[in-house]
Amino acid sequence: SSWWRNVEPAAKDPILGVTEAFLADPSPDKVNVGVGAYRDDNGKPVVLECVREAERRIAGTANMEYLPMGGSVKMVEETLKLAYGDNSEFIKDKRIAAVQSLSGTGACRLFADFQNRFHPDSQIYIPVPTWSNHHNIWRDAHVTQRTFHYYHPGTKGLDFAALMDDIKNAPNGSFFLLHACAHNPTGVDPSEEQWKEISYQIKAKGHFPFFDMAYQGFASGDPERDAKAIRIFLKDGHLLGLAQSYAKNMGLYGQRVGCLSVLCEDEKQAVAVKSQLQQLARPMYSNPPVHGALIVSTILGDAELKKLWLKEVQGMADRIIGMRTALRENLEKLGSPLSWKHITNQIGMFCYSGLTPEQVDRLTDEYHIYMTRNGRISMAGVTTGNVGYLANAIHEVTK
Ligand code: PMP
Repeated sequence: SSWWRNVEPAAKDPILGVTEAFLADPSPDKVNVGVGAYRDDNGKPVVLECVREAERRIAGTANMEYLPMGGSVKMVEETLKLAYGDNSEFIKDKRIAAVQSLSGTGACRLFADFQNRFHPDSQIYIPVPTWSNHHNIWRDAHVTQRTFHYYHPGTKGLDFAALMDDIKNAPNGSFFLLHACAHNPTGVDPSEEQWKEISYQIKAKGHFPFFDMAYQGFASGDPERDAKAIRIFLKDGHLLGLAQSYAKNMGLYGQRVGCLSVLCEDEKQAVAVKSQLQQLARPMYSNPPVHGALIVSTILGDAELKKLWLKEVQGMADRIIGMRTALRENLEKLGSPLSWKHITNQIGMFCYSGLTPEQVDRLTDEYHIYMTRNGRISMAGVTTGNVGYLANAIHEVTK
């Protein structure tokens, strides 16, 4: 009876806690710009039409057998093409060790465990700020964390000089966590030129780049363009690790479909690495779930459905870009003397508003607007219907 007496309640997750508070608020005016899940212009969750069609095609045809430990071969194949390119020499040469993962989180965690197993004394350099769960993931995988400069609060853009210094000053052969596109929470991505310099310096230092790509397609609307950082690194001859997720760009949040891949020196190494990734997965969850992977492979394996998907991703990105413009214009129309250019400069799902924790508290207490205390606004929760209300509230608390 005393087994769990010393267990204290865990600290609330800063992101998921916001949703809980939002749901508990009875106000009809309430707005949730906390969690990073896409909503349509009525604030409703979206299931993509390509997903609905894939489900109709799948219905009643699949059995319920286990997938192999590495997951759906077809899904993984299609997923690699999205990141590495349709005609990637690395795919052709079988140099990529890849397994289906429990979405992006599971891919990051599997990599962190892999890193710890084969480089037990290594560290991971993580950008400041980053998605809060990155810290939990590498902590629970027992990998020591270091940070590197990323966001500049003054410019609300990239602190490129400090970032480059941190890459140079890290011990040779360090692991670096990079967001491939649509950086969470800042919405600030390096330019193509800057990526080239980052790639060059990481190579010069013999660092290992690990890319977390949770938003491919959400930055520009085009998954191919959003892969440009990866492609630059590939061209420069890096070996790299990559986490991919279909949560956002296919709206498959709860299906937990993703992929972890590690580009290796040759096929033999890739076979070994893949077998070790599977070995890590086996005692954790044995093998990944079937249904979401089947949806993805059905869509990407069919030219017509893939085309529909690309159109729908573009549509989601466009709506968000439109809301950025609307939010900025509303603030300017209200006569706010502050600069809100960063709202439209930043890209992807989030706007790192620069609001202080105290200002966020006022938005919540006085206006029933919910977001994380770091001032991150999920643009996916902004709609034609609430953008005016949101702008007015932001204006009031920043006066
Ligand atoms: N990485 C980043 C940077 C993210 O923002 C997210 C989603 N919030 C993820 C990974 C993983 O999400 P999921 O596990 O749902 O794919």
